[in-house]
Order: sequence, then C-alpha cells, then structure tokens
Amino acid sequence: MEDCIFCKIVRNEIPSTTVYEDDYVKAFLDISQVTPGHTLLVPKVHVADIFEYDEELAAQVFSRIPLIAKAIKASDPKIIGMNICNNNGEIAYQSVFHSHVHFVPRYSKKDDFW
Ligand code: ADP
Repeated sequence: MEDCIFCKIVRNEIPSTTVYEDDYVKAFLDISQVTPGHTLLVPKVHVADIFEYDEELAAQVFSRIPLIAKAIKASDPKIIGMNICNNNGEIAYQSVFHSHVHFVPRYSKKDDFW
C-alpha cells in the first residue's frame, strides 16, 4: 500500500527502531511509548485487520509473539509483565489500518509509567 505508514516502515522508507525482523514480519518501537519498550509487530504484507488474515498469515505473525515478548522482557530486568493486544476497527481504537500487535512492558508499581 502506497500511503500506509507501516508499509513505509516495512520498506525502510521512514525511520523506525527495529526490534525483530524476518521474511514475514517486522517488530519496531512504537513512536508514542506507553511504557519504555512499547513495541509493535506487523505483517510485511498489508492487511488492515484480523478479519483479513488467513491461517498461513496468522501462523507467520502470531507465532512470533512469544519470541518478541521474551526478547523485550530480556532487555530490562525491571520488566515484570506485559500487555499484548491487537485492536481491530475504529470502534476498537485502531488508528493505523495496517494490522499490528502491541507489546506494552509493565514494570513494578513503583516504576510504573502508565
Ligand atoms: P491507538 O493509536 O489507539 O493505539 P492502534 O492500535 O492502531 O491505535 O495503534 C497505532 C500505533 O501506531 C500507536 O500506538 C502509534 O503510536 C503508533 N505509530 C503511529 N505512527 C508510528 C510510527 N511512524 N512509528 C511507530 N509507531 C507509530
């Protein structure tokens, strides 16, 4: 998709901080960090939301969730939990219509940013 911001990130046409990349997916830091380490996982092909996935794409994207979650957690010993979520549709607070999974690291109550 020509004008899609996440397609541009996949094609390295606009800058991002890559956390993980393979033939099918890219994970990069969210530009607006809910907590430090907030990461987005996107398929490299443009699909708007979960309703456009087939099983093969779902396997390529969602099978990467544990690997990326563990890598983020391993990056900072203060991370003790994580919210992982996927918003689908404007009504569900999706604002970028290239499907993505949020990883929001959670810290101790004392260190919490949320
Ligand atoms: P919401 O904005 O309600 O979180 P989404 O679930 O669609 O809706 O999330 C889109 C996410 O994309 C936001 O967290 C936003 O900060 C992030 N984002 C938008 N533009 C960029 C960008 N250029 N690089 C990294 N993250 C981006």
